[in-house]
Amino acid sequence: RIVHVNGEYFPEDQARVSVFDRGFLFADAVYEVTSVLDGKLIDFPGHAARLARSLAELDMDMPVTEEEILSIHREMVTRNDITDGLVYLQVTRGAVDRDFLFPEDAQPTIVLFTQAKPGLADSPAARTGLKVVTLPDRRWGRRDIKTVQLLYPSMAKTEAKRQGADDAWLVEDGHVTEGTSNNAYIVRNGTIVTRQLGEEILHGITRRAVLAFAREAQMKVEERPFTVEEARSAEEAFVTSASAFVMPVVEIDGRPVGDGQPGPVARRLREIYLEESRKAAI
Ligand code: PLP
Repeated sequence: RIVHVNGEYFPEDQARVSVFDRGFLFADAVYEVTSVLDGKLIDFPGHAARLARSLAELDMDMPVTEEEILSIHREMVTRNDITDGLVYLQVTRGAVDRDFLFPEDAQPTIVLFTQAKPGLADSPAARTGLKVVTLPDRRWGRRDIKTVQLLYPSMAKTEAKRQGADDAWLVEDGHVTEGTSNNAYIVRNGTIVTRQLGEEILHGITRRAVLAFAREAQMKVEERPFTVEEARSAEEAFVTSASAFVMPVVEIDGRPVGDGQPGPVARRLREIYLEESRKAAI
């Protein structure tokens, strides 16, 4: 694979980042993952806007312009010959002598790599649906900033696998916040329910698009916290993320959701999302 580091392209075994990089020592870094379908970027403007917001919230400078970020993404897709897959981008505060205080003069580190995922939009999981278990949400309080502090979500996903599930839904004060790497939704009385935006969840780029498509299609949407009990007795459940698009959830804590099959709302939203976002891909 070809990797991008600070304006240069390297074979992956020759790419280097300093041991003193604050991304490595403090998880002082933000990231974005953008899907590629048919060689084109899905919702790049959404990811670029969220990157700018994450950086601003952490008082970090945008290392290059949005236009340059787009051209680096395109170059990565071409150089790595990606038809379907992902582009991962990370910006860290940079490498300086270790100190808790934010440095004044650090030069940000920017790294990109790709992951080929043939058939990304056609994954068998979309037909069978995911099994999730609920686990306590023990992440920090600024989940709206897309930082690389991903230890707890990794622990939770690993624990979910140990319990025979595919993923975890994280729970705080009896309410589901989101999945380990996706936003969570249920359908009750025909209404789509998903937690409102705030510091408790990541503001999913897919979430924003999917809710807009749902409203355009005259589906009812409520943005509010929902309880684990509501989820267990829902008609349907699903998750959204840039890499999974819309993915049905068919089991929560070992019990089937609805009839235990992917539901019509999730299936329809997946179809609409894929169709519309492919049309708008750049
Ligand atoms: N929530 C969390 C915690 C995530 O890590 C992600 C994606 O990685 C999402 C939600 C979904 O966001 P997006 O649709 O922008 O990929």
